[in-house]
Amino acid sequence: MNHLIILAIDGFSWNVIDSLIAQGKLKNLNKIIKKATSGILNPDKPLLSPQIWASIFTGKMQDKHGIKDFYSTKDDLKFDQIWDILDNFNINVGIYRALTALSLKKTDSFFIPSFYSFENECFPKKLTFIKKLDQKTRFNELNLNAKIKTFWNLIKFRFPIPILLKIIIKSIFLEIRKNNFKRKLFAIKNIEFLIHSNLFYKLIKRYKPQFSISYENSCDTLSHVFWKDYVQKNQYSNIIPKIYKRIDDYFGKIYNYTIENNYNLLIISDHGFKLVKTETPQHFNKTIQIIDFLRYLNLENDVYGTNLGSTALFRLKPDSSLTFGELENKIDQITCKGEKIFRINKIENILITKLKFFVGNEEGLEIRLSEKTNVKVNSIINFTSKMTGIHDENNGVFIITGPNIRKGEKIGLIKPYDVTPTLLGLLGVPIPEGLDGRIITKIFKIEPKVDYFKNIKKEEIKEKSLSEEEEEIIKERLRSLGYID
Ligand SMILES: [Zn+2]
Repeated sequence: MNHLIILAIDGFSWNVIDSLIAQGKLKNLNKIIKKATSGILNPDKPLLSPQIWASIFTGKMQDKHGIKDFYSTKDDLKFDQIWDILDNFNINVGIYRALTALSLKKTDSFFIPSFYSFENECFPKKLTFIKKLDQKTRFNELNLNAKIKTFWNLIKFRFPIPILLKIIIKSIFLEIRKNNFKRKLFAIKNIEFLIHSNLFYKLIKRYKPQFSISYENSCDTLSHVFWKDYVQKNQYSNIIPKIYKRIDDYFGKIYNYTIENNYNLLIISDHGFKLVKTETPQHFNKTIQIIDFLRYLNLENDVYGTNLGSTALFRLKPDSSLTFGELENKIDQITCKGEKIFRINKIENILITKLKFFVGNEEGLEIRLSEKTNVKVNSIINFTSKMTGIHDENNGVFIITGPNIRKGEKIGLIKPYDVTPTLLGLLGVPIPEGLDGRIITKIFKIEPKVDYFKNIKKEEIKEKSLSEEEEEIIKERLRSLGYID
């Protein structure tokens, strides 16, 4: 049987890989590349991770599969993703936080939905603590109590004790370094990486899925913040090389496992990184976290939200029992230190809520959502630090090895939507008709024989959030009225 493990590393970039390998670093990856066929994953613009990963996993172009950004839901997805196709052909799939794994699937092994999905559970249920950990980290609620619970769950899961001790030491370090944003971010991402990479390794050994994906986002987050430090030598210059080194250790472990078992291995990223030309001014860096915001208000089933940074658009879903006035009241009554935090305007049936500038970035600042609910400001508003690294379409990574894959080959640019048909070909599974991608035949020693099948198209979703054209029209109107910058 043909097995495949995919290590999906968001933002993993050839320019860093080449430079570190030239310095004699990343020994495992260097070894893998010599045994692999490698290319440059070249996405289309806009370079938005959910769009690109959905293209990678559906075989459809970025503007066709229905996923637009982090505010898309499972209802927006118009096509099956590769794990759905494989599951239909009774292939055992194990999915670990793939970015576009938006709906939970029961498989013969494990299924951990994306950190941004609405799902609250994992499969099997005993793994739900991974989802809880993701939610806590995302909502900035990873306090001591939550940490102890996580450690306890890891012990119950027979997580390797030496690594657990390492994580506990890093957590203590994190408490001490609380006030240094950059050190803190690096420590959190490190802890997350250690937990997820080791859990995935345990899971594939336990369940032996024929097809598995592990998704990692620490590289992307850290590259956004630390890119300039990496390029210009200073005290933080070693952060990006350090995370690449950790990822390289992880590759080494997984690669050895694939060699022992005669598996295929794909290392893939959605885009690379480059230095930003002009840094964004501070006031651009407040983003209303629409999904979290609606959840805290218990409105996620009633309201569609569109994100425009520090402005958000809300409108009622057709089946909502709320009135527009009630929605307006609920949002209007939100305060911070006794002052309303939103300026509200209306265009037809759309509520335009703009965050006032006074809302600070102090940790622990309380937002009063209603008489009963108070939340920390970070739970609903994202304060991104200055981005110095931005996504680059010319440095995405595609590295594949396996018994029938050519060794030491370079194939140039490949498109995200070619990945799914190529992997189906590799696994000997029929390919749905009508995909935009084609099999990249030059990666194979012996070209696989492929079959096609007619996929029953998912029902068109009648009611969905604003279309792109609608969004553009509204954005234009808001710009002319001075509501958004
Ligand atoms: Zn990014």
